[in-house]
Amino acid sequence: MSRADSGTDERLPAWAIWRQRPFPDANLLLIDGREAALVDSGFVGHAQQTAEWVRAHSENLTRVVNTHWHADHVGGNALLQARGAGIAAGAPDADALARRDPGCCLAEYLDQPVAPYTVDEPLDDGQMLRLGNADWEVVRTPGHTPGHLALWQPEERLLVVGDALSDYDVGWVNSALDGPDATVVALQSLDRLTDLRPRVLLPAHGPIPADPDAALASARRRAQRLVDDPDGAVWYGVHRIFAFALMIRDGIPVDEVESYLHARAWLTDAARLLRLTPESLAAELVDTMVRGGGVVVRSGRLHAAAEHTPVTPGSMRVPFPRAWPAQAPAGSHCP
Ligand SMILES: [Zn+2]
Repeated sequence: MSRADSGTDERLPAWAIWRQRPFPDANLLLIDGREAALVDSGFVGHAQQTAEWVRAHSENLTRVVNTHWHADHVGGNALLQARGAGIAAGAPDADALARRDPGCCLAEYLDQPVAPYTVDEPLDDGQMLRLGNADWEVVRTPGHTPGHLALWQPEERLLVVGDALSDYDVGWVNSALDGPDATVVALQSLDRLTDLRPRVLLPAHGPIPADPDAALASARRRAQRLVDDPDGAVWYGVHRIFAFALMIRDGIPVDEVESYLHARAWLTDAARLLRLTPESLAAELVDTMVRGGGVVVRSGRLHAAAEHTPVTPGSMRVPFPRAWPAQAPAGSHCP
């Protein structure tokens, strides 16, 4: 078992249990203590493994806190909620989920499955949360999504950053849905995180950065490039979305890739921003990713090249939010 898998890291206090996971799952962070909390819950196809890992490390999970509602962060919510945990998430996400807005989690838009869940505790900027035995501050960090939040523990100077940045990149932004200022907003959020001067950064993907200041500085440079190059920002997003689609489907048959792409709302939106037809964007996307090594052809299927955990096809069969049952009465899931 590698160090990352063992749930320990010498930079973290004993009550912060961390496990790095490859895509399509966000990393696991369990904050143990009287009010044990899990930050993000991975992809729906691995919800059972997530729940087992939590149970192996803590007996009484009080809540799950979501940094944002993308499928790789909220996929274990339904199962953990059914077992008694409360779900806490940013207020904008909570409002849309309460309305059962068809845009919830961007599940349908991005074609990424999410099992139905509800938010018990909407979180606002500056709110203090008791997680484990420590107080954490909610830090709104819009950009990657409008409802994105970070979590700050001032005594230990731990900063949970979700997808705002990782050791190797910066979160992609969706200028089509969130407007042309989304990249500027993301950069401002990174400024806010930098001002906290964290001792340890806990990103949702990849390792814990060895040097948090350097990771933040590098993320800010990348975010500035997205501000300066709006087309580049759109390209960055479509690369990430398509790679994720390939990962959760165990690749897509080569002769079905173009028809898959042409039917996607995210691709049509990106094509409009790039002043291309969806057909030409789809062709160029596949071509640049094959040439750049981001995707590979194996046994007639196009696969994402990056390390990822296989997903059982049956575990993906959940309805999109427009078909989710209406939200249960308030309080029914309170811890
Ligand atoms: Zn995300």
